[in-house]
Amino acid sequence: MATVEQDLLVVGGGITGAGIALDAASRGLKVGLVEKHDFAWGTSSRSTKLIHGGLRYLKQFEIALVREVGMERAIVHRNARHIVIPEKMLLPIVEGGSLGRTMSSVGLWVYDLLAGVNSDERRRMLNKSETMDAEPMLRKDILKGGGLYYEYRTDDARLTIENMKSAIQHGANCVNYAEAVDYIYENKKVVGAIIKDNISGKNVTIRAKKIVNAAGPWVDTLRAKDTDGIQRKRLHLTKGVHIVIPYEKLPIQQAVYFDVEDGRMIFAIPREGVTYVGTTDTDYKGEIGEPYTNQADVDYTLAAINKMFPEVSLETRDVVSTWAGLRPLIHEDGKSPSELSRKDEIFEASSGLLSIAGGKLTGYRKMAERIVDLVVKQLKSEDDAYRNLKDCQTLNMRLSGGDFESQEAVEQFIIRRSGEVTQIKVPGIYVRHLVHKYGTNTDVIIEKAFELYQKIQDPELRIQMAELWYCVHHEMSVSLSDYLIRRTGRLYFQRQGLGNLYPTLAEMMGELLGWNEAQILREMGKFKKEYDAVLNF
Ligand code: FAD
Repeated sequence: MATVEQDLLVVGGGITGAGIALDAASRGLKVGLVEKHDFAWGTSSRSTKLIHGGLRYLKQFEIALVREVGMERAIVHRNARHIVIPEKMLLPIVEGGSLGRTMSSVGLWVYDLLAGVNSDERRRMLNKSETMDAEPMLRKDILKGGGLYYEYRTDDARLTIENMKSAIQHGANCVNYAEAVDYIYENKKVVGAIIKDNISGKNVTIRAKKIVNAAGPWVDTLRAKDTDGIQRKRLHLTKGVHIVIPYEKLPIQQAVYFDVEDGRMIFAIPREGVTYVGTTDTDYKGEIGEPYTNQADVDYTLAAINKMFPEVSLETRDVVSTWAGLRPLIHEDGKSPSELSRKDEIFEASSGLLSIAGGKLTGYRKMAERIVDLVVKQLKSEDDAYRNLKDCQTLNMRLSGGDFESQEAVEQFIIRRSGEVTQIKVPGIYVRHLVHKYGTNTDVIIEKAFELYQKIQDPELRIQMAELWYCVHHEMSVSLSDYLIRRTGRLYFQRQGLGNLYPTLAEMMGELLGWNEAQILREMGKFKKEYDAVLNF
């Protein structure tokens, strides 16, 4: 990247940056992307992990937004069926709740209509006893009925990585641990950036015709470095927290989207042996890089759970993991965090710097299309060499690992591969976990596990080593935290088993990356800090 001028340099390796890199590279642009930590290190590994239309935005009459993200749900699902999976949601209707029976019914109907939902996934309204059958643990005295509808569950960090890998397949250069520290200018126009390699500490200069600042919560930090500074609109960061409870302590039958006393709504979602619940929405003024869960966040969420599911009586000690993220929203005077629009906006500085903020994980593809359309329009008007650039290509583009025609095809793939791995004594259940992370790329991991058959006797360690090897060699994992947080989500969903396992994984990673003893210890120390921090309240 430092030797050849790029057509486009993207700053920020969250879902927004990854989507832009893929869109631009697949239209034929020469694209570079830099991420100061690991890919998806910011908000894009800390969301509610839903590809959803945002039912509650209907209450705020954000019809265009609900329509756009509603339509995008089906597109993102079609292009990445291994990690964007239909999830049945129950919306209980309760006395004093934010939506009555008629409003819920009409709201869900409009929601399905706007999103063009298939007939088999349309909402179904339930009476009180049907709702109790669907979810026996709901509080009965205030329950009036419910609505069942569909959203999609995802893994935000993996969706980011799959986009990044697809962008690279289309020729983009994407690097993690590379930070934009300053811009360079010619004739008052931004023509490149100084990039610090956060591993070696060296600086390089990357020249680019266009620069897009897709730095999420840091968008304003990067705008402030530009000659234009922060004009007119600015970001408004709000914090959202999720807490994780062992499934047996909150054994709900399906995801539930329920009312909280203050008029907000939160999700409880069963997944991988746990149930996670969130989110909060509070103004955030602290250090951008380190939003953590505090006792007030935990108290708020536990109170909400205990009110809606009174039999469970959860306490702080039942919380086994948490995560906290910052929404990079656009400030509007006089609006509270929950009232701020989730719409995305593009800011164009007189220096030529383009910034994009707001939006949702769900709408990333459309956000990318909008800003790359603008980049292409500018390039075409400035230089005839760009006149043959293609239009947006991502509508029907399968993401890396997502080459499946249907959800049944994903299931068949799992069944076939589960049969194959019994030859090397690996239990089939591992294959299901792998396919819901890596899709068809699971084949590369299984092939590696076969190769390791003689070398590693324990089947569990063998498949773990094969997965780790894949994440190092195909997904640029360079630290234990990259692997255990953003490639596999294990710090959030399997934290309980990790305390004893992570030193072994550090040794295994050291073997792959040639770390010496001191480096292994350093990596373990870095991960232990994050391991402790999620429960440090
Ligand atoms: P980020 O993911 O933060 O990416 C920006 C990246 O830029 C970071 O990785 C950062 O390290 C990097 N960066 C910063 N400065 C520099 C620099 N100088 N040089 C290089 N790199 C830099 N949306 C949904 O659709 N569904 C949900 O369920 C959902 N739930 C949410 C729940 C919570 C609690 C929150 C906070 C958000 C949720 N969202 C959800 C919104 C969604 O997560 C965000 O809109 C999205 O992840 C933002 O992605 P991004 O790429 O813009 O920002």
